[in-house]
Amino acid sequence: MNQPESNHPPETETRPWWRRIPLTLQIVIALVLAVILGIALGAGNPNPSNAALINNLAIPAELVLKALRALATPLILVAVLHTFMTTNIPGTAGRRLAVLLLTNTTVAIIIGLLVANILRPGTWGDLAKPQKTITGQSLDPWGLVKDAVPEAILKPLVDNNVIQLIVIALCFGIVLRGLKSEQIAQGKNSYQPVEDAIAVLFEAVIRILNWVIALVPFAVFGIVAKTVAERGFAPFQSLAAFIIAVLVALVLQAAYYLSRVKIGSWVNPVKFLAGGTDAFLTAFSTSSSTVAMPITFEVLQTKIGLRESSASLGALVGANFNNDGTALYEAMSALYISQVIGQHLNLGQQLIVVLTSIFASVGAAGIPNAGLVTMTLVFTSVNLPTEYIALLVTVDWFLDRCRTAINVMGDMTVSALLDGKKPHL
Ligand code: ASP
Repeated sequence: MNQPESNHPPETETRPWWRRIPLTLQIVIALVLAVILGIALGAGNPNPSNAALINNLAIPAELVLKALRALATPLILVAVLHTFMTTNIPGTAGRRLAVLLLTNTTVAIIIGLLVANILRPGTWGDLAKPQKTITGQSLDPWGLVKDAVPEAILKPLVDNNVIQLIVIALCFGIVLRGLKSEQIAQGKNSYQPVEDAIAVLFEAVIRILNWVIALVPFAVFGIVAKTVAERGFAPFQSLAAFIIAVLVALVLQAAYYLSRVKIGSWVNPVKFLAGGTDAFLTAFSTSSSTVAMPITFEVLQTKIGLRESSASLGALVGANFNNDGTALYEAMSALYISQVIGQHLNLGQQLIVVLTSIFASVGAAGIPNAGLVTMTLVFTSVNLPTEYIALLVTVDWFLDRCRTAINVMGDMTVSALLDGKKPHL
């Protein structure tokens, strides 16, 4: 999702020195310090007298996760409303765009789930002692449909139910958009205040989210120190397996994009990759597809040679709904944690993961760590314990960069496909 126009003060010199250290570096420092503390506290053989201290180390991660869970629903709601109120999607192209977005995201999630089912990264190491094995309910498509409509409008916000929430957000988004268009056709726009209010709310949620994200290094410090102190380094083998599995899936998704570009557009995939380098690198280095957006738009036209209309539909409009890398990551994380704790997810539950990941990725803002926020909703939908997301926080700073580059590549693929088989002159 797009970030609202913000009037941030310019990067001020008055920030305290520690806030001027890039977040990634803060996390790396936190990791190093945590390992030192973890070793000092026993590295797998903790002294019982330190038990209380070790337990308390989990508090920052618990707080960060609680805050992320609380912010996830308002973020999705205002982000979807904001996009509907502020973007212009022409009719037929809009339908093509919707089909392309849905296909690409579904393929991403299927690739993610296939890789996670085949490699089974959750079984490689010893991240957590398996609890009891819980097998899920069987597939109930009718139940899914019945559950899509909430009993009360505010209930999805309270229950953190992502499917119901998106249903509400889409209904209001479509209606507000329609009302605004009717007014504009009559030469007035009394919906401007509503649009402004939504933009302000969106900005407010993102700013609060930034506070929470600023605390992530403390969460990483606490959870890593606790894990090393209690269980040594074995759990990190499992996280390394997860990183490898996600990277394999992202590479497969990139290969899928390139073959779609080759088959469905006039663009040469090699030129597509080379021309898009600036956009991919910006996405990777900032972890934000929104920050990369103007560069993506630019390279699509100047380096790859697409028409402005296709570049803008894919990279400016589609980008708001299209986060394939995020969708893939959320689905894989759910499956990974289910493997780690021995809570088998059957086909029906994996289908719920597919659906909620699609919705969660639509609602994920194009900012760093947004996928982590909406992931809480995917976990809740299949009763996975969200505490385990705290462990994923330790690797998210790296995987976020990789999935953001794929998010941007997805937007560029959509633009190329919209541009069709004939280059413009
Ligand atoms: N950082 C990603 C993006 O900007 C969103 C995510 O966290 O998955 O596209």
